[in-house]
Amino acid sequence: MKVAVIGGGAAGMMAALSAAESGAEVILLEKNEKLGKKLFITGKGRCNLTNDAEKEAFFAHILRNPRFLYSSYGRFDNRAMMDLMEAAGLRLKVERGGRVFPASDKSSDVIRTLEKLLSQRGVTVRLHTEVKEILTEKQDPPASRKKDGPALRVKGLLIQSKGQKEKLTAERVIVATGGLSYPSTGSTGDGYRLAEAAGHSVTPLSPSLVPVEAVFAKKEVAARLKPADLMGLSLKNVSLSAFVKDKKVFEEQGEMLFTHFGVTGPLVLSASAVIGEAVAVKQESAELRIDLKPALTEEQLEARLIRESAAAGAKQLSTFLGAYLPRAMVPVILAQASLSGSSKAADLGKNERRNLIRSMKSLPIKVLALRGYPEAVVTRGGVSVKEINPRTMESKYVKNLYFAGEVLDLDGTTGGYNLQIAWTTGRTAGDAAAKEEVIMKNTILNRNIAIDGPAGSGKSTIAKKIAKETGLIYVDTGAMYRAMAIYFLRRGLTPDDEAGITAACEKANVSIGYENGQQQVYLNDENVTAFLREEAVGQMASASSVYGPVREKMKTLQQRLGREKNVVMDGRDIGTVILPDAFLKIYMTASVEVRAKRRFEELLSKGQDADLAVVARAIEERDYRDTHREIAPLRQAEDAVLIDTSDLSIEEVTETVLRLYKEKLK
Ligand code: C5P
Repeated sequence: MKVAVIGGGAAGMMAALSAAESGAEVILLEKNEKLGKKLFITGKGRCNLTNDAEKEAFFAHILRNPRFLYSSYGRFDNRAMMDLMEAAGLRLKVERGGRVFPASDKSSDVIRTLEKLLSQRGVTVRLHTEVKEILTEKQDPPASRKKDGPALRVKGLLIQSKGQKEKLTAERVIVATGGLSYPSTGSTGDGYRLAEAAGHSVTPLSPSLVPVEAVFAKKEVAARLKPADLMGLSLKNVSLSAFVKDKKVFEEQGEMLFTHFGVTGPLVLSASAVIGEAVAVKQESAELRIDLKPALTEEQLEARLIRESAAAGAKQLSTFLGAYLPRAMVPVILAQASLSGSSKAADLGKNERRNLIRSMKSLPIKVLALRGYPEAVVTRGGVSVKEINPRTMESKYVKNLYFAGEVLDLDGTTGGYNLQIAWTTGRTAGDAAAKEEVIMKNTILNRNIAIDGPAGSGKSTIAKKIAKETGLIYVDTGAMYRAMAIYFLRRGLTPDDEAGITAACEKANVSIGYENGQQQVYLNDENVTAFLREEAVGQMASASSVYGPVREKMKTLQQRLGREKNVVMDGRDIGTVILPDAFLKIYMTASVEVRAKRRFEELLSKGQDADLAVVARAIEERDYRDTHREIAPLRQAEDAVLIDTSDLSIEEVTETVLRLYKEKLK
């Protein structure tokens, strides 16, 4: 399967990576001279790559078409993104409001991590390459398709690089071209044109998460003061609400900033996303109101003012208010409350105090306009999601054409939500594009198969065969423990050095990928697959796998794999701990004699010396350790089917498992 991804931003890189991980041959096309230009400048160069919020809170921050995102988010959410980055060696930190950043505060580290993964997975990157046209052909409706299925299918792309036009064949195409915001990074709306040419509709576009041009709403204030007079003033811990035609549509607490044209900062950007359409498209009037004292109710503020003004003696009101407000804000509040700063605080009358309170708790600012795309974090609007399959990101009009990221009509507030939209949709599109339709359909539901059992029971042989027959992805968890073991051995650690192994564990990052359908295991980016089967490695794996931190680390990785893809996973604790909800669980075993004989013959066939009795003893030792360890010991899950392979051939066992799987599918 050849997959072409258009656009090397967040969504495009993720899509390319996933398609490659799922076994496709992938080419990533970027018109700039490098990947990730917009990513580089996001979050003020720190890259707020996702938000740590729980699912419900996360979706509360998705402003456009949250429902469309449910299914894909279920497979690749914020946690999955964090796991993926951390497994690739990128350390992360969570800041205020759940914002997740690289620990280094450098967006370039996020880009570097993605580039590294792309190269590990063999993705071809072509820079300076612009896509002019998506080439399609008539599609003969396959028998399974309804009459109203797509009439066209993707054939390839017409691309241009270095002035030369060229045709590129690709069976699947993913459009991840971004939006219109920050055009200097190359986001110039190419994807919308490609989508429209393919028959898609694009909903009205407007800048979102964008600063706001504004004036003070009260005429008397505006006559004397402009936001520009407060330029550079940053308000922390204020509450901002937004009103459209006097109806409150937004309220949040946080930070905002005055500029030469109006207001900006996180609160204003988030508010802009809510009022944007009213202001930019419908030309309706909108107002922002700042509560400068959100921690106090009006009554509490009044009580404090009464108490403190009485004690203020001869203090002028403007000096007095300095204890309540930032200096630059004082004249604004005085003007809003129609008070003179030179009057005495102690003389404040009841009505004057009420005016003052109202001004501090609800300072109105009139929205004149939104700033433009060059200053907008994202684009509101995009390819209509009604025309896209939410489970796969595939076009309903053109078969094998997919969309991901900002080009879609999805957006959220600031705080990492928009990038997570890119990761989630990119992951989904990449995954789906790499697979045959039949398999993708299966992967929508949990079809995981867990196979546990002792060494030599035949798990891995059978699991591989089952994977091949079902189209599920084979995951050998023993190999992951073995990769960790390689790290420990290289550090000169001994199996009984629990403290040393626990400490080293943190620095060993294991990940897996596939080459020609074979699982490859990476240890801190080095492909260590060739060393996994060494005897010393097996011993160390068995011994070190009893330690909690080692198991925790493997658990995170393995559960992520099981969540994202449908897998046949073999190991010791898959049915009990890793995938307790597996679709089918098998517990495979065989007598010690049979297993020892299998291992003995395997060694002989490799031309190695072996002694059957020694092999049998090693197996018994390993059994003992695996079944008696404290954490996640090897045992049969209650709902696992037991298969004793002592007297069965490989074919017989494979058939039994396949039969069980198919019966369950019915
Ligand atoms: O299956 P394999 O022999 O490759 O596994 C190596 C070792 O890793 C096993 O002896 C076992 O102790 C450990 N392991 C584990 N849990 C798994 C897979 C392997 O503890 N899920």
